[in-house]
Amino acid sequence: MIRIEHVTRKYGPIAAVSDVSLNIERGEIVGLLGHNGAGKTTLMKMLTGYLEPTAGKITVAGIDVVTDRNDVQRQIGYMPENAPLYPEMLVQEYLLMMAELRGVAAERRQKAVGIAAGRTGLGHHMLRPIGQLSKGYRQRVGLAQAIVHEPSLLVLDEPTNGLDPMQIESIRELVRKLGEESTIILSTHILQEVEAVCDRVVVLIDGELSADAPLQELLASNVLRLVVADGDDVKAGLGGVEGIAAVQRTEDGPPGTASWAITCAPGTTPTPAVLAAAQRHGWTVQAVAPEQRTLESVFRKLQRDHIARGKEVAA
Ligand code: ATP
Repeated sequence: MIRIEHVTRKYGPIAAVSDVSLNIERGEIVGLLGHNGAGKTTLMKMLTGYLEPTAGKITVAGIDVVTDRNDVQRQIGYMPENAPLYPEMLVQEYLLMMAELRGVAAERRQKAVGIAAGRTGLGHHMLRPIGQLSKGYRQRVGLAQAIVHEPSLLVLDEPTNGLDPMQIESIRELVRKLGEESTIILSTHILQEVEAVCDRVVVLIDGELSADAPLQELLASNVLRLVVADGDDVKAGLGGVEGIAAVQRTEDGPPGTASWAITCAPGTTPTPAVLAAAQRHGWTVQAVAPEQRTLESVFRKLQRDHIARGKEVAA
């Protein structure tokens, strides 16, 4: 549905987004993850036609975002990080205005606003001035304006920014629900947000695409942890066993035991071979399990790798 090809955006000499390529398919909920200043907002603005790339090309459903901006914007619901809401306007007035701006036909507007308000839980607040709403409800208004024309693609920039935990949970629930019918790209610097809502993760670091994978794949580890009695020679015993790329003693476990990290070759599950070797060599196996990865540890590693690559280039 979305094709991003070698897109770069510079502000003066600084590249906020650098040679990013991505494809996003219909129905995906993609989390765009990155620290402050990583380039998330810049990428989203280009995707929605509010900012032109310095280089590269973006199409949505085959339509070029730069040359056919209006056509693309009809298909997109965009909730900017600080959606321009008019505090003195009533919620209903504002949503009717946004429906008109988004091209909803006059005779359909009232109904479209009613549906958007219903989906975002704004039903009882339609006649209140926006300025009197809590921040959580203002975010809902931001979401309602983004979906009022029933777009097939929703682009949400930090949708839970500044909300309290209860409000965060209800907005996430709402996003999950919206994801049943629309493709969603959601930017955040909150790792739990991605874990809670997204099925695919795109990580930007300093404007560069650092990772792009299904969440489960990103969290999957290719390291097995094996705890045996101290003195069992695991390194020698696993030499030549198929599917094992590396064996390293990591730390001492409980007294009398030793913990080993066994790195598996891509696409292999050598647990049975490890257990067979343990039996052959008479090791006292206390535990064997795949290493648990968290999004936080993955993110930290991506950052370390990014910094190391930068140093290599500079050297
Ligand atoms: P945040 O999470 O803080 O919103 P972000 O990942 O969305 O950050 P961007 O807002 O896209 O990051 O900014 C990326 C880089 O581009 C930053 O270094 C920022 O200072 C710079 N930048 C953004 N907008 C402009 C602008 N209009 N002029 C100059 N530099 C800009």
